Amino acid sequence: TIADAAGELGYPAYVIGGFVRDLALERPSKDVDVVCVGDGIRLAQAVGQRLPSRPRVTVFKNFGTAMLPTPEVEIEFVGARKESYRAESRKPEVEAGTLEEDLARRDFTINALGLSLNPEDFGTLVDRYDGMGDLRRKIIRTPLDPDITFSDDPLRMMRAVRFAAQLNFDIEPDTFDAIARNKERIKIVSQERITDELNKLILAPKPSYGFKLLFSSGLLQLIFPRMAQLQGVEKRGQHAHKDNFYHTLQVLDNVAEAGGDLWLRWAAILHDIAKPATKRFDPKVGWTFHGHEDKGARWTPAIFTELKLPLGEEMRQVQKLVRLHLRPIALVKETVTDSAVRRLLFEAGDEIDRLMLLCKADITSKDHQRVARYLH
Ligand code: ATP
Repeated sequence: TIADAAGELGYPAYVIGGFVRDLALERPSKDVDVVCVGDGIRLAQAVGQRLPSRPRVTVFKNFGTAMLPTPEVEIEFVGARKESYRAESRKPEVEAGTLEEDLARRDFTINALGLSLNPEDFGTLVDRYDGMGDLRRKIIRTPLDPDITFSDDPLRMMRAVRFAAQLNFDIEPDTFDAIARNKERIKIVSQERITDELNKLILAPKPSYGFKLLFSSGLLQLIFPRMAQLQGVEKRGQHAHKDNFYHTLQVLDNVAEAGGDLWLRWAAILHDIAKPATKRFDPKVGWTFHGHEDKGARWTPAIFTELKLPLGEEMRQVQKLVRLHLRPIALVKETVTDSAVRRLLFEAGDEIDRLMLLCKADITSKDHQRVARYLH
């Protein structure tokens, strides 16, 4: 239907971007983006008129795009465009362009793939930057000079790490070096957009991989310094404490593997967040981290506010989990009374199952295996 409508209007049209990538990866995809060399809104309206269900086309005039709902997916239509950025302005100047120009402004080669919808070559792949090769090699790479791509829109640095984590891809070395070089530019991006990408990374099957990339590129220190501060082991004589950053990532991966949702994952990220601030060295017992659960729970609203995460019920759940995360472990001692157990059950309320999941994810060393058995 799209091909017919586009043919009639004389617009070459292509499916572009994430849908083509996900098709090649045999991954489910939610929306379809159609780019035409012409007026995207007119094309959407023409397609809508040809469908028996006569779907309502939503037009976003300011963006020059239109959305057509179908029972399976939403299809977004836009005219091919080229963008030019100027150093003093964040917003690009957008004008109509060719298919080539449209592909060149895409963030990564794997997102710069197209499928022709034109009668003469219907279904033919358009791949100007060897995106298929990068899909095979499992590589995130920018189509043009990465310094320009990232400087034009610094959010793309977060997207590079997010796609690497979601797809378990490497970031190509020149692309990665450009992130490290341009990282400071992330400051011009709105917190909402940064946090959106961060949440997608956290929902990846193995989020530790994304966080390690954020840390080694220097982005984490800029977007979430309190987490970056967990990194580092200090030694006094024989006494070294475990690196809280890598421990936190292990707990996060454990929670992810157990199918934890976004907020349980945030609780894993924040469960030891205040440890560096409570660290003391006692010559008799070594390193201690007294009271970090309470401090972490007190920090939670500030962190949610800084990162523009929702401040409602989700935040209270995370706060509760951070505050109580060590309590189940304390309760496996023989001397503990039933009333102490009842008190925890009362305090945890609806969160008791999630608290147990977090607690189990936190118990990684062999010494604690006995405890883990009780926590089943
Ligand atoms: P997901 O649905 O997981 O977010 P996606 O690739 O569909 O993945 P979208 O954000 O919907 O991501 O973007 C659709 C397409 O638009 C991308 O595949 C890419 O080609 C292009 N794109 C999106 N954001 C940018 C950006 N900041 N810079 C350049 N191209 C972008």
